[in-house]
Amino acid sequence: HGLDGFAPRVASAAMDVAVVVFTRDLRVTDHPALATACATATQIVPLFVFDDEIFAGRRASANRTAFLLDSLAALDHELHLLGGRLVVRRGSWADTVADVALTARAGAVFLSADVSGFASRRVQQLERRVGSARIDVHTCDGVAVVPAGAVTPGATSAADHYQVFTPYSRRWVAAPRRPIARTPDRVSVPSTVASDALPSLDHLVDGTPGASVGRGGTEIGHTALDDWVAGSLAAYADRHDDLPGDATSRLSAHLHFGCVSPLEAVLSAESIPSGAGRDAFVRQLCWRDFFGQFLAARPESAWSDVRVRTGRWNDDDDALHAWKTGHTGYPVVDAGMRQLLAEGFMHNRARMIVASFLTKDLNLDWRVGARHFLDHLVDGDLALNNLNWQWVAGTGTDTNPNRIFNPTVQGTRFDPDGEYVRRYVAELAALRGPSTHDPDAAVRRAYDYPTPIVDHRQAIEEYRAAWSS
Ligand code: FAD
Repeated sequence: HGLDGFAPRVASAAMDVAVVVFTRDLRVTDHPALATACATATQIVPLFVFDDEIFAGRRASANRTAFLLDSLAALDHELHLLGGRLVVRRGSWADTVADVALTARAGAVFLSADVSGFASRRVQQLERRVGSARIDVHTCDGVAVVPAGAVTPGATSAADHYQVFTPYSRRWVAAPRRPIARTPDRVSVPSTVASDALPSLDHLVDGTPGASVGRGGTEIGHTALDDWVAGSLAAYADRHDDLPGDATSRLSAHLHFGCVSPLEAVLSAESIPSGAGRDAFVRQLCWRDFFGQFLAARPESAWSDVRVRTGRWNDDDDALHAWKTGHTGYPVVDAGMRQLLAEGFMHNRARMIVASFLTKDLNLDWRVGARHFLDHLVDGDLALNNLNWQWVAGTGTDTNPNRIFNPTVQGTRFDPDGEYVRRYVAELAALRGPSTHDPDAAVRRAYDYPTPIVDHRQAIEEYRAAWSS
């Protein structure tokens, strides 16, 4: 594939210098903004800005920031191989990008379009800062397979986005895809543009990463993708819910930070013969784009209920603490929550179980759970996290908003031998078999494991009563 798919959007006159701002697209392969800038300008300033809005309070997620730093170091290495380097700055994002563009006498700024309200506000601020200097800001595709807004209900509705997954997925599958963007042969960076050193983690955040948090970077990401496609992909449909099997791709953080491009992931998956595993995996990437296009059209849905209901959430700090630390007395819930703390990751099935437990069994506001997830998940992503939370809470896009997960039944079904529980809940390491998910009082006492903080059946009755209107 060549560049022909998107190069024409830019003014035809060659310019001397262009700035490429990296955000969560930390790679040089299949990077439309970088490819277009390199086809247009003689010299490039590849820039990453540590935005004060994210880092000034030192409260950004330590897990995610550690992965970000890995990925930036890897990006700098990739740029060096092309004769360039990464320019790193810290400050207000729009002011800093504008300052670099003006100092470098750039003719344009290129970056990947993103889906959150935060991202679009930053771009608008940048446009205002550089507009008077006649520096154009070009946003390119790159964070989705099918960009937000590219498929709409169109003829059947006036809506500019899909609210239901199935009709969206039919259009998504048939949507034209952009060509893979060409990796530049060479990236020449003006010598006059200085860079700060890449900061260390403790300069950015107060916390420390979990004990077993994954590492970032394009090489690790591409190796993970290749191994996944050659190994477990074909069995994905059968094994994606197998909690102890851990047989999903584990590509989420690489996709979130763009170490792997989502289009590369789909094309790579499609290189194996068609089958249930491949189709199920591509469908997950379609879910990713579905939530992206939803958030882009409705930025307020990050924190506001999509489906408005009448009722009230509980306020119970002890229950919330038990949930966060993995001491609810429901083994599969506790295993999931402790996996999150140790790895900055949780299996998708466990995410659904623990989110249902928080919002239905404990009747605690999904926003509190979503916040905790964002504090710890390496793949923490506003669109995917918050809209999945809303989906489970019944306030979102689920067409069946009243579904209830029974944690004991879910545990016995998706972790029949209790292996997932044993891996993360040390107190229960001696238990085996389905009863691992429902230890009796004597076993709980013997292993110093808490009694359940709520009775599931009774909790669900109370939940239904709280929201009955
Ligand atoms: P795989 O099963 O291999 O899937 C491949 C890719 O498809 C994932 O990497 C992801 O990009 C996408 N995907 C998979 N499941 C979903 C889904 N349900 N919705 C949208 N895209 C999906 N995913 C995140 O990347 N970041 C989050 O912050 C996040 N928060 C979640 C919160 C809750 C309450 C729930 C129920 C799910 C959340 N997910 C989130 C979706 C999903 O759990 C993770 O993407 C998945 O577990 C990551 O593991 P994997 O890469 O091995 O996934």
